[in-house]
Order: sequence, then structure tokens, then C-alpha cells
Amino acid sequence: MGDLNQLDGGFVLRWMREMAGDIHDERDFLTQLDAAIGDADHGINMDRGFAAALAKLEAEPDGPPGDLLEAVGTTLVLSVGGAAGPLYGSAIRQMGRALDGAKTFDAEALLVLLRAALDEVQRLGAAQVGDKTIVDALSPAIEAYERGLRSGDDLVGATSRAHAAAEEGMRATVPLQASKGRASYLGARSVGHQDPGATSTTMFFAALERTAAWEAGP
Ligand code: ADP
Ligand code: MG
Repeated sequence: MGDLNQLDGGFVLRWMREMAGDIHDERDFLTQLDAAIGDADHGINMDRGFAAALAKLEAEPDGPPGDLLEAVGTTLVLSVGGAAGPLYGSAIRQMGRALDGAKTFDAEALLVLLRAALDEVQRLGAAQVGDKTIVDALSPAIEAYERGLRSGDDLVGATSRAHAAAEEGMRATVPLQASKGRASYLGARSVGHQDPGATSTTMFFAALERTAAWEAGP
């Protein structure tokens, strides 16, 4: 447990542990989602990438939080094929760079990091909300996180709102027709299925919410 205004490398390590654990547990589910509208590898890709990233962090856990995020991002880019791995990897690397060597960060700084992640995903993949991608969970999660902070939430409240909004965005992908990525090749046949990338993005926010709650203590 620690100070919610002084999140450090330990916070990042815990967040990435939670994420890697969830992804591993949900690996088959993510792959099943991708089997319906893609090539059945999203769970495999994400599990491989986050397992490698976590191994890297556990071997060198003591750096400032930005260095840890950069290491996670770089490992994801290097170890994961497909569309989502490089998108996640580049986005998390940008989060690390946005910290610019800081030893700690707070809930406001986390908003800046999350925005940097979304900017990078959209710079690389050019998806907008409604295209049935990662962006459908990421964008509303960040908006909800900011609304939380502006209405006086602490880190725990704001990350909880972000998780709920990501989940809502994820569910809203079901009736959509994909217009980016592999699922777009299916045209109308992509309708009626939940997007795998929006699902793993929701796990990213679930892991963040749990990490924030742990940090806050009982
Ligand atoms: P691939 O599609 O190359 O097999 P994955 O299966 O790992 O890669 O990831 C698929 C997910 O990637 C999709 O469910 C979607 O959410 C996400 N995705 C694909 N293209 C884009 C894009 N241009 N922008 C954002 N996310 C994307
Ligand atoms: Mg795939």
C-alpha cells in the first residue's frame, strides 16, 4: 500500500502483474472471440506478450515507473505479432515516455499517460470510436476517468469509472460492423460478435482499478 499521489515503479509492476495474470486466465476466451471475427490468435498473442513483458519487469523491477512502462511496451512490440501487440506495445511505450523519468506520478498524470496511449493507438491504427477496435473501450474509459477526476474522485473512484466505461464500450462493439483490422474483411459478418481487442483493453482497466484499490488499502 502507498500514497495515491505518489505512484511509483511498484504501482506499475503490480498493474502489469494483474494484467498479465488476467490475460493468461482469459487467454482461451480472447482467442475464441478472435476465432469468430479474426484468426483465433488474440489470446495467444496477448498472453505471450504480457508474459514476456512481466518476466522482463520481474528481472529488473527497480526503475522509475516510466522506464518500466517503456520496457513493457518494447517487449510487447518485439514479442507479439498481429495488429494488437504492436498497438498495445507502442501505446504503453508512449505512456512510459510521457513520464519523462519522473520517480512518481499521480492521478492527473495518469490521465496524461492514458491520453498518450490513445493518441498513439490512433496515430498508428487510425481507428475512431465505432470502428469495433481497442479504441471503442479505450476512448470512453479515458473520458470517464477524466469525468471522475473533475467531479472529485480519487484514483480509486476514477479508475473504477474508467473500467465500467471500458466494459460498456466493449459490449457496444457487439452490434457493430468492423471497419478496421482483420475483422473488417468480414464486412457484415462481423456484426453480432464482441471485439477481442476491446475486451483485452477492458481487462487493462480492470487490472488498473484493482491495483488502485490495493494501493489505497483497506
Ligand atoms: P490480428 O488481427 O493481427 O490477428 P490480434 O488478433 O492480436 O491481431 O488483435 C485483434 C484486435 O486488434 C481487434 O480485435 C481490434 O480490437 C484490434 N485492432 C485491429 N486493428 C486495429 C486498429 N487499426 N486500431 C485499433 N485496434 C485495432
Ligand atoms: Mg487475431
